[in-house]
Amino acid sequence: MSSATLINGKEKAQQLTLTIKETTAQLKKEGIVPGLAVVIIGEDPASQVYVRNKKRTAEECGFFSIQHTLNADAAQQEVLNLIQTLNQDDSIHGILVQLPLPKHLNEELITQSIIPEKDVDGFHYINIGRLAAGDIDNAFVPCTPAGCMLMIEDHLGKDLSGLQATVVGRSNIVGKPMASLLLQANATITICHSRTKDLPSVVKNSDIVVAAVGRPNMIKGDWIKPGAVVIDVGINRVSVEENGEMKSKLTGDVDFKEVSLHASAITPVPGGVGPMTIAMLMFNTLRSAKKSSVK
Ligand code: NDP
Repeated sequence: MSSATLINGKEKAQQLTLTIKETTAQLKKEGIVPGLAVVIIGEDPASQVYVRNKKRTAEECGFFSIQHTLNADAAQQEVLNLIQTLNQDDSIHGILVQLPLPKHLNEELITQSIIPEKDVDGFHYINIGRLAAGDIDNAFVPCTPAGCMLMIEDHLGKDLSGLQATVVGRSNIVGKPMASLLLQANATITICHSRTKDLPSVVKNSDIVVAAVGRPNMIKGDWIKPGAVVIDVGINRVSVEENGEMKSKLTGDVDFKEVSLHASAITPVPGGVGPMTIAMLMFNTLRSAKKSSVK
């Protein structure tokens, strides 16, 4: 049994970031500086790390980057007012509100209050609708599935005609938009979730498997069709014993060791989908800035 090719998301994200940086430099000559505003509410440690990484990458790309940090008990109206201000600010081309939000806030109301033109996360219903309708050129596609798609294209090309793809997970952020993108590329799609019967045999039928579940190492080696391309979106923090000590480690939804023996290509965690998600956020922000320049 051979071992799968590693899909190096970190390296691909670095290449993408470099291209974005070069395009940004060109755009700056025309007097446009892409602007990204990140709103974080509360002190969730994982969110703080994500926001820091996004801000750092935005600066690396040469963007104008601003972070608004609100207290965990911020009132709904305070958040909506801030978004309203950012919606009207011409120096800002992309707005993102880091999820999850504290429980007292209405996530739907807040994400939908960002105007579609600055919704670089692709969560606004207008962008979701455009993607579902196949109007990708005019949609902001959610960053995680967009990044997954680029990695799939690298291995299988842009046309996935005749290929069977399974997405495990049906969230609005990952699973559903991922399925739309795969469908758009002519793959035949199955979307699985917690109510799916006999998940292993559904997965076993698939040339492409995207796991976005949030359950560490759930997808096993013997679920995988030989030669399948496997994309692991999951980010799970687990405790593992190393040299007699318990350490906290990130792991995906895919049992990497086992699945590597059956797949033709696989993304690692960390270093796979995560960096690509951030790179796609920069890509969407740059796109928004370019669009604003041709208004
Ligand atoms: P959600 O919790 O919103 O969705 C999880 C999905 O998995 C649901 O559709 C759920 O089904 C399904 N599911 C749960 N248990 C099972 C099971 N036993 N069998 C089959 N399906 C199951 O998660 P997200 O989509 O937001 O995120 C998924 C994972 O991806 C998480 O680990 C998250 O941290 C990670 N993530 C990583 C990103 C990155 O940049 N790398 C970005 C975003 C997320 P049901 O709908 O029936 O409940």
